Amino acid sequence: MYKETLLMMPGPVPMPETVRNAMTKQAMNHRSKDFGDCYAEIVKILKPVFGTSNDMLVLSGSGTAGQEAAIGSFAKDKKIVSLVNGKFGERLGLISKIYGPTQMLESEWGHPLNLEGLAESLENGAEVVTMVHNETSAAILNPAEEVGKLCKKHDALFILDGITSIGGDVFKADEWGVDVAIVGSQKCLAAPAGLAAVSVSQKAWDRLSENRPFYLDLKKAKKSADLSPMETPTTPAVPLFLALRESCKLIEEEGIENRIARHQKMSAAVRAAGKTWGLKLVPQVDALHKASNTVTGFFYPEGIEDSKIRGACKKMGIEFAGGQDRLKGKIFRIGNMGIIDTPEILATVAAVQMCFKKTGYKLEGDGLSAAVEVLSQ
Ligand SMILES: *Cc1c(COP(=O)(O)O)cnc(C)c1O
Repeated sequence: MYKETLLMMPGPVPMPETVRNAMTKQAMNHRSKDFGDCYAEIVKILKPVFGTSNDMLVLSGSGTAGQEAAIGSFAKDKKIVSLVNGKFGERLGLISKIYGPTQMLESEWGHPLNLEGLAESLENGAEVVTMVHNETSAAILNPAEEVGKLCKKHDALFILDGITSIGGDVFKADEWGVDVAIVGSQKCLAAPAGLAAVSVSQKAWDRLSENRPFYLDLKKAKKSADLSPMETPTTPAVPLFLALRESCKLIEEEGIENRIARHQKMSAAVRAAGKTWGLKLVPQVDALHKASNTVTGFFYPEGIEDSKIRGACKKMGIEFAGGQDRLKGKIFRIGNMGIIDTPEILATVAAVQMCFKKTGYKLEGDGLSAAVEVLSQ
């Protein structure tokens, strides 16, 4: 390909040049001041992005490593409730089942969570709650604050996957009572894939599990991070740390409020386009559940094949996501995570509109104009 594909996926996402270049550095000793300074700078910048003053640890491994580290370190052999309304909530539940007795409270993907069921489970002694804040598979934003309140009321640990909200949407770990929050590097942080950052409350440390995983033991990660200079227990993915530091610097430069406002505006433009086209949003929203501000999902109209739209856009050089598992072939999802801004949104909305036109399908209205309207505000 003579030009780069425009990645409009809900992760991985396009990376700024300084981030990419950071990965070409010569190898360094990871038990050095240079590495420790890099780790420290990442943590310093990410804490306010998480809305926390708790400990923060960076793990070599994708977002799932962060999920498993959290559950393996704090939920082993405890009574766990996993809220599920999509692929990633389900994943938290499947990991939980390996570590302790788990009740999966499942809703249809993209539908509101079963909060009544959760309250009942907490009454009956559930000790740990797992949940996904921004459920990427169904493009729905789940009510973290409400669930945090329930966990606090019943003194349960709250493990929250903020993998596609942290760095792109409002996230207030401490205010919401989140004990363990998780982010992945290749989503809203616009860094390369392969790192997870996890924040841990004192309440969680006080309830550390006896038997923990070896590689993903957060206690060991903390012991190394508490050294000066900061370290990791085993050899970290140094080039990824160096790249993540550059991403963090750019987040600090933009300002997290501005960054969140940009994500909200870009997703609003995509939603406006879809509404004008007459497409149905994937998430079933209510007073507590909202459409995601970092990824937007639409159902395909009857008779439209995934390959006709997504395949044709990819051929044009714009790639976005389809559905996962049970939603495969039924939906498409446009991400606006990281550094995605007006030009990328305009190009993507225009490409989708063109591809529908080419199939002969008559969309209800001019979604591109609707997107322009939102982006001009
Ligand atoms: C991407 C993602 C993950 C983790 O996926 P990895 O492929 O392990 O990085 C977890 N939760 C959510 C909500 C995600 O979007």
